[in-house]
Amino acid sequence: MPDQWIYLNGEFVTKENAKISVYDHGFLYGDGVFEGIRVYGGNIFRMEEHMDRLYRSAKSIMLEIPHSQEELTNLIAETVEKNQLENAYIRAVVSRGPGDLGLDPRNCHGANVVIIVEPLSIFPKELYETGLEIVTVATRRNRPDVLSPKVKSLNYLNNILVRMEAQLANVNEALMLNDQGYVAEGSADNVFIVKGSTFYTPPGYVGALEGITRNAVMDIANDLGYVMKEEPFTRHDVYTADEVFLTGTAAEVIAVVKVDGRVIGDGKPGIHTNKILEEFRKRVISEGVKVYSLKNESNVS
Ligand code: PMP
Repeated sequence: MPDQWIYLNGEFVTKENAKISVYDHGFLYGDGVFEGIRVYGGNIFRMEEHMDRLYRSAKSIMLEIPHSQEELTNLIAETVEKNQLENAYIRAVVSRGPGDLGLDPRNCHGANVVIIVEPLSIFPKELYETGLEIVTVATRRNRPDVLSPKVKSLNYLNNILVRMEAQLANVNEALMLNDQGYVAEGSADNVFIVKGSTFYTPPGYVGALEGITRNAVMDIANDLGYVMKEEPFTRHDVYTADEVFLTGTAAEVIAVVKVDGRVIGDGKPGIHTNKILEEFRKRVISEGVKVYSLKNESNVS
């Protein structure tokens, strides 16, 4: 029996059989949308928010998802259950589907819908104890008025170029600035800085994806009595912050202890970051929705 089942257009298939056309415009042009979602102890975290973002992204690029939001929610829950994973990362992808070699999406007949569920660890475990060293890179964030980061599209070249620069600098992650030099975000995560008891994170218009972990952390910061500000900031503000951390579905909450060679605080994960992380770990369980209660009936063969 295979240990991994992938949902592909109405059926569950093995990894070897999970194949789509080379004419898919997701493959040819990055034309499509996706979500990364997390399951913790059998609870899917902020599922509705992820699904809302997926459907907003699709609407923005005029991509019709061939399922209602409720149906797709059920299919995702069913795929998690089928894979029998209590703790996992879910990747839901909807691409424009196969067309011809031209750009015109009207020649694509039917989106491809793929759901992959896998165990995941993006950064080595010990880095959650020690904190990350990161750099800022030359690659700038796509301007939001050119390609909105609110659309979580399959076009991730901007982010990949950032990750390549991080690798060249021998670090695990990097921050990109926007075209005006304000800090935007990491290659696949949002950034927060802490000064005193105030938390800052770049607003969406600077070029940050409005991350769902970011939302959760802003809620936690408010609930714990911190001042939470969405404000643009520069590299100088990062270098001189008391604490810096990154957030993301894959990255969760991870401290940053060095940026461009500048030691942040005392070079260890800060007390406020640790408080946020501790509360985050509680909430991913308490705020999550049980997979079985999401799963009603769906039509997978
Ligand atoms: N920014 C980018 C560019 C990302 O790809 C991600 C990961 N989805 C994030 C931020 C974090 O968003 P979330 O917390 O919703 O995963």
